[in-house]
Amino acid sequence: MYSRSSARVLHVDGDTFFASCEVALDASLSGRPVWVGGGRNGNGIVIAANREAKRFGIATGMACFEAQRACPHGVLARPQYDEYRRLSQAMFRILEEYAPTMAPMSIDEGFLDLTTMDRHVWRHTSATEYVNGLRERIRREVGLPVSAGLGNSPWMAKLATSAAKPGFLEVPPEGEAEFLKDRPLSELCGVGKRRERALAALGARTFGDVARLPSAVLKQRFGIWGQQLWLFANGRWTEPVVLEVKARTTISSNTTLPHDEPDYGAALVFACSELARMVGQLRRERLQAREVGLGIRFTDFTETGARHRFDHAQCRNSIFNTALEGLFDEAMAGAWKPVRQIRLCLWNLKPLDTQPTLWGGTDEERWGAVDEAMERLEGKFGTGTVMTGAQLALRRLDAAHESPKSKCPFAPAREMAKNLWGTDRDPLSRKADWERKLAQVAAHHHG
Ligand SMILES: [Mg+2]
Repeated sequence: MYSRSSARVLHVDGDTFFASCEVALDASLSGRPVWVGGGRNGNGIVIAANREAKRFGIATGMACFEAQRACPHGVLARPQYDEYRRLSQAMFRILEEYAPTMAPMSIDEGFLDLTTMDRHVWRHTSATEYVNGLRERIRREVGLPVSAGLGNSPWMAKLATSAAKPGFLEVPPEGEAEFLKDRPLSELCGVGKRRERALAALGARTFGDVARLPSAVLKQRFGIWGQQLWLFANGRWTEPVVLEVKARTTISSNTTLPHDEPDYGAALVFACSELARMVGQLRRERLQAREVGLGIRFTDFTETGARHRFDHAQCRNSIFNTALEGLFDEAMAGAWKPVRQIRLCLWNLKPLDTQPTLWGGTDEERWGAVDEAMERLEGKFGTGTVMTGAQLALRRLDAAHESPKSKCPFAPAREMAKNLWGTDRDPLSRKADWERKLAQVAAHHHG
């Protein structure tokens, strides 16, 4: 049994992830050298190569034509990021079943907290059996090979994984200093070249060297990090998996209109719909905002703007809409130049602590429930199904808005991308594709 004070952290990492995904997607590639890369004319660089390809000296960063020369019968695969994301999700869904706490770190890497597993789960099995079972399941169900390392902190687990690759390695409790003794400090991420040089100046190239230095020297030279490093090198740094909850401080949006908009009514309609989307996000994240800001950039790059602070944090569409109309009037007073860019920001955020229901006790809660129901309707029937009073009034005022295609071509960009791909992350990375799909959708609409 492990000592009570020691955390047990498992690090799991996909082997040559993108290249392995290609093999998982196309079984005929199994056992063949595969690398992923490209560029428009096949003149790009290799971004991942599987083990079979590495035997031919193919490495990440190498030019694709060089790789082809080194291994003429190998397979160059063009990256399919949507597929990689899908496989990554499938992998993390399995990982989740193996520990109460799982923290993904990147598309193919995550930490699982296995502390106390020895007492509750591993009575009839061992850590090695448990982890190899997990690896085998990912291999069988998702088709991906993963390596893993188990240690008393995320740092240790990560080093164990790189020592194990491909495979699994446990650094046993009390065996940490021994495991680290001859490993170079450069293996630890976060060391960096500058620190590495400074440590070398103290005569330390391996963790064993660090362990032998007086801790005061490291503390004096590197502060808290130095002290941590010393404890780590001696196997005394234990740390559980901590789920990092990034506290959001703002929700913002910045849209450059595809054409210069001389019609301020149309610009305000756009700003309102964009703000409604942001308020939706605010509510989904169970937050409310106390301040809202509007920034406008004109065609000649001059700017104007206004901000408003509420007495209390808000989460209601109607309140934000009214405030935005006021801000817009204030910012645009006397302006005449066409609008180029619109920025919106919600900040001074705090958690929405009540769970709003339709039968909530306060007005605030009832309005919250109305907004939420509206969001659900929009989720089901599409944006624009439900309009707040302010939006409706604007739409009525703005007669030109009756033909929204010509008037509001800029609003749907992000939503379109979402509808097409189910994601709004970096839609421009596939701009050409996206424009083609958009044209198809538009043609379909007209036809
Ligand atoms: Mg990896």
